[in-house]
Order: sequence, then C-alpha cells, then structure tokens
Amino acid sequence: LKAWSEIPLAPPDKILGISEAYVADANTNKINLGVGAYRDNTGKPIIFPSVKKAEQVLLELEKEKEYTGITGSKKFQNAVKNFVFNNSNKDPNGKQLIDSGRIVTAQTISGTGSLRVIGDFLNRFYTNKKILVPKPTWANHVAVFKDAGLTPEFYAYYETSKNDLDFENLKKSLTSQDDGSIVLLHACCHNPTGMDLTVEQWDEVLQIIQDKGFFPLIDMAYQGFASGNPYKDINLIRRINELVAQDKIKSYALCQSFAKNMGLYGERTGSISIITESADASKAIESQLKKLIRPIYSSPPIHGSKIVEIIFDEQYNLLESWLSDLDKVVGRLNTVRSKLYENLDKTNYNWDHLLKQRGMFVYTGLSSEQVIELREKYSVYATEDGRFSISGINDNNVKYLADAINAVVN
Ligand code: PLP
Repeated sequence: LKAWSEIPLAPPDKILGISEAYVADANTNKINLGVGAYRDNTGKPIIFPSVKKAEQVLLELEKEKEYTGITGSKKFQNAVKNFVFNNSNKDPNGKQLIDSGRIVTAQTISGTGSLRVIGDFLNRFYTNKKILVPKPTWANHVAVFKDAGLTPEFYAYYETSKNDLDFENLKKSLTSQDDGSIVLLHACCHNPTGMDLTVEQWDEVLQIIQDKGFFPLIDMAYQGFASGNPYKDINLIRRINELVAQDKIKSYALCQSFAKNMGLYGERTGSISIITESADASKAIESQLKKLIRPIYSSPPIHGSKIVEIIFDEQYNLLESWLSDLDKVVGRLNTVRSKLYENLDKTNYNWDHLLKQRGMFVYTGLSSEQVIELREKYSVYATEDGRFSISGINDNNVKYLADAINAVVN
C-alpha cells in the first residue's frame, strides 16, 4: 500500500444503509422497515418503563463508575444464568448445570460481541473451523464468523418458493456435513424468516447433532418475542439441557442479548455462556475467555448490565413490570402483523405465511425487484431479501403500506 487513496470503498451495511436512505427521503408517507428495533404505535422508539425505573434506582444508588471485571460482574453473570438456564426455577437440569459449576457466563458487548467472542474462542480452541448457518440467516452472522477465522457454510432452512420451512432438506443438508462441525441455531424468532422449528422438529435436529458430534452454538437475540414471555421461548435450551444431563450432548454455547427484550439496544448488553463437561473445565475456559477479551476491549460497559442486575434483583420488584412491558411490545407487533395481513389483497397472492411467522419481522417472499419498486415509488424501505421489520408499521401507515404492496404484487 502506497497511499490511503488506494483503499477501495467498502459497500454500506445492508441494513444500516437503508436507514440512511430513509432519513434522506422527503416523502412524508415514508416507512422504515429496515432495522430490527422496536417502535411504538406513533412510530417512535421507546424506553421500557421498567428500565426507566431501574435507571432511577441506579441514579440514586450508584456511587462509582469503576471498571467491571473482564467478563462482567458476578451479579450480572448469576442473573443471566438464573434467567436463561434455571428458567425461573422451571428447569431442574439447567439448575443442576449451574450448581455444579458447568456454566461459564461472561458479559459481552451485546449479542454481536458475544458471537464474536465465541467465534474467536472456537477459532482458537476448537479443531473443526466449519460453522454451519441456516440459509438464510442474519447477514452479520456470516461476517462475524468469517472475521473470527471460521468457515461459515449454509444448511437448508427455508424454501422461498413455498414461503415455508424446508425441514426435509434441513435434515438432509445437516446430515451430509462433516462430523464435529459447529452448528448455529436460532433459539426463537429466526431472523430473517420468523419461522421456528416445532418442539418435535428440534428433537430431530438435536438427534442429528448427537449423531454427527456437532458443537451447538445457539443465538438467542429475541427471547420473549415469540410468545410474549421470555420464560416460554426457551424450549430449545430446556431440551438441550436435558440431553446434557443425560450425557448425550457434552457441551454447547449460548449467545444472548438484552438489546431487544429490554430495549437496551445502544447499551450493548448481552452475554456468552459456555456449557462445559466439568467445573474444572469451566475454570480453564473462563481464564481463556478473559485472556481473549482483555486485549480487545478490556471489560464490558456497565450501565446496561446494572439495569439488568436491578430488574432481576427481587428487592426492587421490577421483574413483573418488565415482563408486562415486554408482553405489550410483542402484543403490538402481533396486532400490526394481523392488520397488515387483513389489508393485503389475497386474490393473486397467498399471504398465510405471515401469520405463521413470529418476532420482529415478516419475511414477505417479495422479490428484490418488488422491494426496490416499493422504495422508489412508495418510499417504503426494507432489505432486498423481502424482510420487513414490522415495528415500523402502525395504525397510521398500515393501510398505505398494504396498498403499496398490493400495487407491486398485482
Ligand atoms: N443475532 C441476531 C439473529 C440478531 O438479529 C441480532 C440483532 O439484530 C443480534 C444477534 C445481535 O444484536 P445486538 O448485538 O444488538 O445484541
């Protein structure tokens, strides 16, 4: 390299680039369906009332802004373990794993940071570098794992022509892969399709994982967005904990984020948990996680993690209000999903898949040409794969949006 001017221009981020184009558009009817962040019925971002209360507690009580540990505070780690694995005392297998010291949890820089930390960790210590990801998946998965030195490869997940899961091919493509690969699973509200596996289908996949000796890496960015209740959205974790208890699966990892389910997006609050064979293995893994994180960002930020600690601390009585805030958010998303469906013209196009999908998105099945037409003619902004973030829909624009979609489809 002789001059900085030799550096080529990088393409804009597919999702964040859409928001920029949206901001620049002067049409007052414009709609942003790009980014997966919650908006209320007036189109505005919110702070969960329970989070605001936790911040008030923090303002009163906080006496210092000292660094937290490299892997975060014990209080945060324990809150996460209890929330995700003990499942509010409903998962005896998860509780057993916690009590026997088989879970290492580290606070990370939200879900993305947790994916990157585990990616780097697996690259450093896991023999097989191939990571199987569903087709399609969140675009950043591929980027994160590639940059971490792993080799992402797709397994079949969704059949676009049928707007449905492609479960038979999913099983076939996993079975045909090398033994011992890493396999990425979306815990719930698969991004971008919104289509999750049933309990029975998860069992079949978990059997393949055992047969092939895959290392399961679970990404849980939308816990609570499937049912409205975070304790109900972790079927996969409960099932896998059962298999670990039976010694059928030895180890797995879970990337978790509070960005969506507490609305802590910019606070960058999440975690990585590694489930190990023994308390001794946990100690070594924890020490290696520290060694890995220290030269990257030294330690995670504390504001978001303290909010999480307060919400899960019984003495502040905020758990129920958080659960109810989250339920309201998910309730609104389900309402706009049905309203969009009601307003769509079903004469020439079957929209039933919209009602089967869960979470922040509808995966419309529209072609990239149709998405571009929506943008150019109607100022409706979405990613070209036809994924719409429905939090951008509200009572004021749902009719306009449905009419625009009807116009490009017919
Ligand atoms: N995983 C999936 C599937 C996501 O959709 C996202 C965010 O959109 C993340 C992880 C990470 O989010 P964050 O880094 O904001 O916690």
